[in-house]
Amino acid sequence: MIRSDRIPNTVIIESMSPEDLASFLAAAAVCSSDGPEKPCGLCPDCKKAKSGTHPDITEIRPVGKANVITVEMARELRSDAYIQPNDADRKVYILYNADLCTEQAANALLKILEEPPVYAVFILCCASAGSLLPTVRSRGVIVSDFGEAKTVVAGKIQKKADELLGAMMAGDRYQFVKLLKQLEKDRAVYKETLFALSGSLADALRSSAGAGQSVFKLAKMLGAVRDAGDAISRNAAGPLVSAVLSMQL
Ligand SMILES: [Zn+2]
Repeated sequence: MIRSDRIPNTVIIESMSPEDLASFLAAAAVCSSDGPEKPCGLCPDCKKAKSGTHPDITEIRPVGKANVITVEMARELRSDAYIQPNDADRKVYILYNADLCTEQAANALLKILEEPPVYAVFILCCASAGSLLPTVRSRGVIVSDFGEAKTVVAGKIQKKADELLGAMMAGDRYQFVKLLKQLEKDRAVYKETLFALSGSLADALRSSAGAGQSVFKLAKMLGAVRDAGDAISRNAAGPLVSAVLSMQL
């Protein structure tokens, strides 16, 4: 979006910590560099964006005891958005916790999201786009950073599965049980790890086919790991599953 200079009028950032991405996008929107890389970080607009003093970037956060974005704030935003930008070609509004708009505020906001001035960019940040009014959500392009978070989790699960495989291949039952114990507190992670482990075992089995004894052992372990995964899926107690699985080693 940024490279082709087609930043939509409404972007919804779905993230637990949207600040960096929102600031980056806001800086890219106001950046006055002619080059392809925006934000360039060097032009006066980027410098002002970085120091939080750009007149065309406004941050809005929930206020007061009720911790909401009020209808007054939404109306103020709306009338301000109809005034041309000062320095940049665009005018950016970042709404943190946009899901904490009161219903009136969301409706006031909706009016400008439906017919935004061409130069306006509204960045709505929230933990989940599902918490926004459907009418608001449908106006925006959703950018979610959960993909990255998922990759990190998948990496951690694979690492744990590799450690289990190592202990298994070495016949180190003590280490194996210790690793399983760490998984018991989170059933979802336990299940995913067993799934990853059965994948690694199946790979090992394919690559060592014909190697006699180890094939038999791997096949036996693969069956046991699959059974353990099924047991966890059926809500069997974690410690019981660990105990049964480690007996197979
Ligand atoms: Zn710049």
